[in-house]
Amino acid sequence: MAVFKPENVEDFYEIMEVLGSGHFGQVRRACERTSGTCWAAKFMKVRKSACSRLGMDRSSVEREVEILQAVQHQNIVTLKDVFESRAEVVLILELVSGGELFDFIAEKENLLETEAIEFMKQILAGLGFMHSKNIAHFDLKPENIMLSDKVSSHPNIKLIDFGLAHFFNPGEEYRSTSGTPQYIAPEVINCEPLSTAADMWSIGVITYILLSGLSPFQGDSNEETLRNIIAMTYDFDERYFSTTSSMAKDFIQKLLVKNHNDRMTAEECLLHPWIKPLTRKQAANRNRSSINMKTFKKFNARRKWKMSFNMVSICNRLVNLKMCKVSSEADPLQRQCESDVEDTESKPASLLRRRLSSSS
Ligand code: AMP
Repeated sequence: MAVFKPENVEDFYEIMEVLGSGHFGQVRRACERTSGTCWAAKFMKVRKSACSRLGMDRSSVEREVEILQAVQHQNIVTLKDVFESRAEVVLILELVSGGELFDFIAEKENLLETEAIEFMKQILAGLGFMHSKNIAHFDLKPENIMLSDKVSSHPNIKLIDFGLAHFFNPGEEYRSTSGTPQYIAPEVINCEPLSTAADMWSIGVITYILLSGLSPFQGDSNEETLRNIIAMTYDFDERYFSTTSSMAKDFIQKLLVKNHNDRMTAEECLLHPWIKPLTRKQAANRNRSSINMKTFKKFNARRKWKMSFNMVSICNRLVNLKMCKVSSEADPLQRQCESDVEDTESKPASLLRRRLSSSS
């Protein structure tokens, strides 16, 4: 178990600008006073008493810290230190300064599938490592896939935000309705026992978006999105997938599988011919295929707009939320999706419960 240092974090770090925020509080750049090295300080408000509605349970913070300690891998953000005061815990994390992968890609004019695959390999390597330790992320989405830096031509992928991650004890049955609607697996919506395979569904959705700029299950509202996921209504519309290789579609089809036991694992993904071609013909196919940049850029612009819209909307709603009693509904589609907010305008309070920062 990590030591939660009782000292004042500001004695050791100069706290700088805000890098991002979530319902827990803010993430700020923090420069170590002795060395000048910069890190990311994640400030998490902790509930003062069991009946307090504001802040996180200390046990959730402890879980995030334990998981971060267990997943030391080059494609996963590193935890350096933990400070604790009466009202908050501060995680000192490796500074991931390259921004989000999707923003990096959206700035390009063209991207071949082979180039996208180099990023996919790193995402799968990080994820495979976590899964080998029986840890699932449960909140994989573009906002949580970042790049190490802005300077190198081949920046490393860094997976962030382990706030919903879970360590599976042997034989444990774990259910959760947390996540972000566009990316969650059917078993999450149906409140069935979960496994690391739920992350693989999200990888299928992310790959689909990356290649086409379309979100496979996106409806006009979160309820419609969840219904589309359960109904498995997705296809590869030729208008958007005309430059996509058949191997890439096969890769996605082996992830967007309703039965989680039949989905590819991260390890199997790394051996799929789209990622690791076996023949020259397969390798050549990937080189001829590319990302649908026109629609991808539109998707990303819309995503960013929604994120900033949600920040404003959330500020306006906070007062209401504090007064509103959240309850689990009988209908699984009405159950809380506890991660980041998506289309806030039409959502029940339960959908707004956990993360009040970004969106998808
Ligand atoms: P989180 O809830 O951990 O995803 O943090 C909220 C936001 O803060 C993220 O979407 C990022 O924009 C930013 N952030 C989180 N961790 C880091 C980090 N280690 N380095 C840079 N920015 C970060």
